[in-house]
Amino acid sequence: MTDRETVCNLGEFSLIAQIKKMAPPLSAEVCAGIGDDAAVIRQVDGSVLLVTTDMLVEGTHFSLATTSATDLGYKSLAVNLSDIGAMGGIPSHYFLVLGLPSTCLFGWFQDFLTGMFSLARHEGVQLLGGDTVAAKQLTICITLHGQAQEAAVAYRRGAKPGDDLYVSGSLGDSALGLALLQQRESCCHPLAAKGVPVGGEAAKFLISRHRRPEPRLQLGRLLTERRLISAMLDISDGLLGDLGHLLSAEESSLGADIMVDQVPLSWAYRAHQLSDSLAAYRPALTGGEDYELLFTAPAGRERVFSRLAKETGVPLARVGSISREPGIRLYLPGGEIVDGAHLHGFDHFAGQR
Ligand code: ADP
Ligand code: MG
Repeated sequence: MTDRETVCNLGEFSLIAQIKKMAPPLSAEVCAGIGDDAAVIRQVDGSVLLVTTDMLVEGTHFSLATTSATDLGYKSLAVNLSDIGAMGGIPSHYFLVLGLPSTCLFGWFQDFLTGMFSLARHEGVQLLGGDTVAAKQLTICITLHGQAQEAAVAYRRGAKPGDDLYVSGSLGDSALGLALLQQRESCCHPLAAKGVPVGGEAAKFLISRHRRPEPRLQLGRLLTERRLISAMLDISDGLLGDLGHLLSAEESSLGADIMVDQVPLSWAYRAHQLSDSLAAYRPALTGGEDYELLFTAPAGRERVFSRLAKETGVPLARVGSISREPGIRLYLPGGEIVDGAHLHGFDHFAGQR
């Protein structure tokens, strides 16, 4: 890379690596800085402070044509809660930074706050401050704090060869929900052309999974408090993309074997994706914004996790295992093995290249 190339050519993850490389070294109280779902800062009483931040920009993360103000308020906070859940923490306080275009209506603004505060009330988190500025594009940035016991925190690092790999809930719903919304906008739906009904309960379910992801806070906390897992993160960039982050968090390179037919799909996903081919699994493997948990655990804990799934009401599926062999191998239902590098997760700069 030369100084005259644009940052878009580097991509999100190389840019973050460059920031980390050039940043001054961290002091002893920092257990995790750049590179995990939240920073982890040791406190004097044996607990840790967790801090995470996420920014949503109109046109990149959402379109006002397909997102209501209340849903956007909800989601802006939900994506941050998900990162605290992925560390096993209890969220507590947050800051809200808004960049508002001159066209933003006061009614829209109030609805946005209603959506955000309803989730804040539900999860017991309090808004303590922020900043409000004029901007060309609607921009929302939330910084959320949480707490955990130091010994219980789950990191992206920690997976061992032979560990099982689990995911919560179902994958790919959000990507299909977004596709439905975008296709509705453009008025030419490819599923309709295949004779598949586009509306109905399945479409409603998929769209609501996209608009209102459920942060897995209770599940994340129980997994870590009970010391059941070796590594964890939330799936915001797609299963394969985030699995890549988990694997590269280790000093020694690791790989993973994924049984594609074990990847959990909702009834609504199955209703929309008809075949057994790799293409039908693509949204579940690479689609972003599911905000489910991806974690590793020593092999043989299936019964513990099936009890935990009943206790929390969140399904847990074993989708594969961690291997010493670098790379991600996808085992298809027909016996074929595909290199996961051929499919990619979400990179914020990819569309601008
Ligand atoms: P997540 O999807 O969990 O929100 P990201 O992929 O956005 O995580 O970021 C990965 C890691 O890189 C996080 O630890 C985040 O804090 C860090 N990071 C991202 N952008 C920056 C930045 N501009 N400066 C410092 N750290 C950053
Ligand atoms: Mg995350």
